[in-house]
Amino acid sequence: MSSPELRIDLREFDRNLAHVQATVAPAQLMLVVKDNAYAQGLEWIVRRAVHNGIDLFGSFDIPTGIAVRQTAGPHVRILAWQTSGERLIDEALAADIDLGVGDRVYLDRVAARAATAQLTARVQLKIDTGLHRNGVRPEQWREFLAQARSYEDAGSIRVVGIWSHIAEASDEDDDESRKVFEQAVALTEEAGFALEMRHLAASAASFERPEFRYDVVRIGAFCYGIRSADGPDEDYLGVHPISALRAQIARIDASGVVLNVGSLDGLPSLLARRCTITSSSGQHLVTAIGQDETTVVPWDDASVGEWVTVFGGGEALSATDLAEQIDTVGEEILLRVSPLVKRVYVE
Ligand SMILES: *Cc1c(COP(=O)(O)O)cnc(C)c1O
Repeated sequence: MSSPELRIDLREFDRNLAHVQATVAPAQLMLVVKDNAYAQGLEWIVRRAVHNGIDLFGSFDIPTGIAVRQTAGPHVRILAWQTSGERLIDEALAADIDLGVGDRVYLDRVAARAATAQLTARVQLKIDTGLHRNGVRPEQWREFLAQARSYEDAGSIRVVGIWSHIAEASDEDDDESRKVFEQAVALTEEAGFALEMRHLAASAASFERPEFRYDVVRIGAFCYGIRSADGPDEDYLGVHPISALRAQIARIDASGVVLNVGSLDGLPSLLARRCTITSSSGQHLVTAIGQDETTVVPWDDASVGEWVTVFGGGEALSATDLAEQIDTVGEEILLRVSPLVKRVYVE
């Protein structure tokens, strides 16, 4: 008996990337690869993306950005937006990574480190359009631009982008955010900055709201085929899950069919009685989830050693289907899959 595995279908990833790019064009796709490419393995995902012509990545943190640089080589653009300490800023500058900057103190620090290294930092300024999760408030934007102007004139930074993050929860709130964003962009252009990228949307808004696309869209979830909880389905979106959690039948006893996967592998025990697993003969209700075993209602031709799909899409439930049963999102189901669960790549 082997251990459970997360099987990642890179051909499905190719198809999703092509579909996402076609959908958002002429906006450019920034592939978001934070959290180890949503638990699917950064190196494999980045290598495959580069093979598909992707040349813009969003990493969230600087160490992930550096790992992308090492895998993808010198020609791709990488944006890291986590406010970070001086050692990481130095490493980011050395690795030619764009820095997302959403507060004045961080701008000072980035400019100071760049001056010391005698480099020009490429920075992308973040306006807070209402999410209050980092970003400069609109009433402080002019002052922030004046500060950026002095650093740009001194050669320590170059402002190449403006961006923000929106909730994608209600169209009305997103519309408000968009107004704030456009005002910030206008002020920035009036102040003479030569912007290369304006970006606001992640997966959901990129697909549903063309006016949110600007030059670039930052997309993780839909590229991996993870639909939004309570949102449109995969066939409507045209993307499909690239990963599936698979396990084997360990034994069949009075309690039912017992699988070799459990909560220690990352399967939330709250899902017992709320989800099915999928075998070649259909879907079967999960009745109990223990630490390293999951029990399922038995079916006729079940056999020990047989592989089944816990989640993944196609005939099986997707990560988002499971997430909806316990009030979370599909990303969370994937991120909970233990790093010890073997990743298997299908090319
Ligand atoms: C994670 C993240 C994204 C990607 O969001 P998806 O919904 O996965 O497409 C985009 N922008 C920021 C700032 C993020 O943190």
